[in-house]
Amino acid sequence: MQPTIKSKLPYAGTTIFTEMSVLAAEHNAINLGQGFPDFDMSPQLVSLVNKAMQAGNNQYVHMNGLPLLRERIAEKIEKLYAAKVNATNEITVTPGGTYALYTAFTTILQKGDEVIIFEPAYDCYIPAIELNGAVAVTIPLLLPSYKIDWIAVKEKINPATKAILINSPHNPTGAVIDEADIDALKAIVKDTGIFILSDEVYEHLIFDGKKHLSILKYPELYERSFVHFSFGKTYHCTGWKLGYCVAPASLTKEFRKVHQFNAFTSFGPTQYALAEFLQQENEYLQLGSFVQQKRDYFMQLMTETKFAALPSYGSYFQLYSYANITDEKEKDFAVRLTKDYGVTTIPVSAFYRQPTENKVLRFCFTKKESTLEAAAEKLLKL
Ligand code: PMP
Ligand code: GLN
Repeated sequence: MQPTIKSKLPYAGTTIFTEMSVLAAEHNAINLGQGFPDFDMSPQLVSLVNKAMQAGNNQYVHMNGLPLLRERIAEKIEKLYAAKVNATNEITVTPGGTYALYTAFTTILQKGDEVIIFEPAYDCYIPAIELNGAVAVTIPLLLPSYKIDWIAVKEKINPATKAILINSPHNPTGAVIDEADIDALKAIVKDTGIFILSDEVYEHLIFDGKKHLSILKYPELYERSFVHFSFGKTYHCTGWKLGYCVAPASLTKEFRKVHQFNAFTSFGPTQYALAEFLQQENEYLQLGSFVQQKRDYFMQLMTETKFAALPSYGSYFQLYSYANITDEKEKDFAVRLTKDYGVTTIPVSAFYRQPTENKVLRFCFTKKESTLEAAAEKLLKL
């Protein structure tokens, strides 16, 4: 008799990104759903990976990441955020940002702990919390700005609160935190044992002259933080699944205990390549304006349609309201758009645990201009 599994994630289906990408492929639709660029990554970076493999760098790299890459990451952090982090004991290279977040949760959480997250929330947070026996306490972001409601946060804090997760630039809304948010966070965690998990995978994808406020800049926040990054987003190679976690030495020590018995190390050749490529500052410094142009181009195309843009200050994404078009639920409308109009998006309701309908869809604008043009043309028919 085959044994049965008592599911640890009884409410989870397949992620909305996979579901919508499969639907897009089935209907040959333009996929503005899942967040990935449809243009080529840097050929130079590809050559560097090739070079590393040809040179025989194909065995395990150090479990915490290639030492030279960690040095280069530390240099970059110092330049960008005026923070000195130690490459030896504060940076761990991981197989992606998602893995790093999961590892950080596993490192700190005990059964019954509470973690405050904000909704709409990127889909991996709640499962990672629950798989570790903890409870996700969700607080809705304030519409229409999608700012954090710090009064609500204060009200939810109790002795079981183990961590607060923040994500800026934010997926799916494109909201970014400002100095007032940092001050509010400082005031809330001061004199508590609360950890911060900061998801900063879109650190360079920030627009309109705004500056990314990394937790790394603030020593009184950093001392309690695990800060997460992803090379996939920075270098247009989401399929690489390579990222890193920065945390103070004592936190990193425990993080690595978990990491060493799970992935242990990450794919090597890309680490050699990135150690070299990271020295080309302009590759990441120009990213914000490069992606902003795409946001602006798509927004301009969309003015001809009945969709209404909500502000996006960062990330790969922008929300559009379809309140002028239909009363349908977000998921139903997103499915119909794929099937009948050939454009795939992500319903924002998928980023909430409780049914929440605001008639908004998430569009990924990090695509070739021709892709955006073709999508807008189809959406004009609505
Ligand atoms: N956090 C957010 C908000 C994301 O959008 C992503 C992208 N998928 C990740 C984390 C994970 O990045 P990675 O693909 O490196 O696991
Ligand atoms: N981060 C990507 C997004 O938000 C998707 C990654 C995934 O498919 N899990 O669209």
